[in-house]
Amino acid sequence: MTCDAAFVYSNEFLDYHFHSDHPFNQKRVLLTKDLLEKTNLLSADHIIKPRKAAEDELALIHDRAYINAVKKAGTENLTENESMEYGIGTEDTPVFPNMHEASTYLVGGTLSAVDSVLQGKAAHALNLGGGLHHGFKRKASGFCIYNDGAIAIKYIREKYDLKVLYVDTDAHHGDGVQWAFYDDPNVCTLSIHETGRYLFPGTGHINERGIKEGHGFSFNLPIDAFTEDESFIHVYETAFRQIADYFRPDVILTQNGADAHAYDPLTHLCATTETFERIPLLAHNLAHQYCNGRWIALGGGGYDMWRVVPRAWAQIWSVMKTGEVQKGALSNEWQYQWETQSPVQLPHAWYDDKKIVPNIPRKAEITEKNAKVLESALKYAKNKQVHP
Ligand SMILES: [Zn+2]
Ligand SMILES: [Zn+2]
Repeated sequence: MTCDAAFVYSNEFLDYHFHSDHPFNQKRVLLTKDLLEKTNLLSADHIIKPRKAAEDELALIHDRAYINAVKKAGTENLTENESMEYGIGTEDTPVFPNMHEASTYLVGGTLSAVDSVLQGKAAHALNLGGGLHHGFKRKASGFCIYNDGAIAIKYIREKYDLKVLYVDTDAHHGDGVQWAFYDDPNVCTLSIHETGRYLFPGTGHINERGIKEGHGFSFNLPIDAFTEDESFIHVYETAFRQIADYFRPDVILTQNGADAHAYDPLTHLCATTETFERIPLLAHNLAHQYCNGRWIALGGGGYDMWRVVPRAWAQIWSVMKTGEVQKGALSNEWQYQWETQSPVQLPHAWYDDKKIVPNIPRKAEITEKNAKVLESALKYAKNKQVHP
C-alpha cells in the first residue's frame, strides 16, 4: 500500500536547543531525515515547511501571561518569581535565546501537519519536531514549552469539529495533553508509560479516567520498569484496538516518543526496535480502519539520539509511505556521514539484536502485572462501549 504522506521539516527546528549538555536535542530530527533520504524513502516533494504558530493559536491552550513570560525569557531575564510561576529557567527547562520563536515553529509544524491531512492533501503527516506533551496551560515542564499536541487537538476541534483519539507511547505520562482535555468527551487520550512511581512526572494512574462529560475518555496504562517488547506490544495493541472500537475516532494523533527503548538513558523500560515497528504499523491500520486514513504523528522524548531515535522515527515515515517497516541493513552512507560525530557505535541494521536487553529475572512477574493493569484500564472501555 502506498499512501500520500507529508513530512514536516525545516532547520528552524534545530533552534529549539536548551544547551549542549541538555538531553533534549532536536538534531535527532535531522538524523532521521537524513537516514530517510539516504534510504530513498524521502525526497524534497514530500517535505512541507512548518509555519510559525500565531499567538492566538498558542492561546488555544496557553494563558497569555505565560506566552508573554516565554517571550520575555528569550530576550531578557525573568524575575525569580516569574521563573518559579511559569517553570521557565529550571534545570529541566532552562532559558535559551529566542525560545518563543523556536517553540512557535514546533507548534506551527504540527498545525501544518494537521492541515495537510484534514484538507485532504495527504492521508498521513509526520512532525518529528513536535510531541511536547508536558507543556501546561501556564507552565513549562519536562523540556516542553508549548504543548503542540494539545494545541493541535483544540485546533482540530474548533476548525474541523472532528473527534480525536490521542495515543501517547512516550515512556513518560502524556500529562499535559490529558489534563487539557480531561472533561472533553470528543477527545480521548491513551497514554502508555513507565509507572510514575519512580519516573517523571509521577501521574498517569489507571484511575485517571476523566471528569464531567469527559469521564471515561482518558486511559492510562502505567507499565512496570524493565518491561520488554512482548509485554509492551501486547498492552499497546490490545488497548489501542479496543479503545479505537469504543471511541470511533475521526482522526488519530500519535505522540511517538522513543524513550521506552532499553538504551534510553532517562527511563527504565526495555523495548527494542521491534516495539517501534509495531507502534506505527497498528496506528496506520487503525487510521485506515476508522478514520479514512487520517493520522498525524508527532515526535516526543528519545534520548539515545544516535542509536535509537533515527531508526525508530524513520520507521513511522516508512509505514506512512509504504505501509511497511524497513528491514535488513541500515544505509552505509548514513553511517559514514555521522559515525565521526557519534560518541557510540552506530547500528548497522534496522532491527536490534534482542541480546541488547539485559536479563530481567522478574520478567514473568512484570508481564503479569502489566496484563492486570491492561485489564483494569480496559474494563471501562468495555462497559461504556458505543455502538454506531
Ligand atoms: Zn496509509
Ligand atoms: Zn519521555
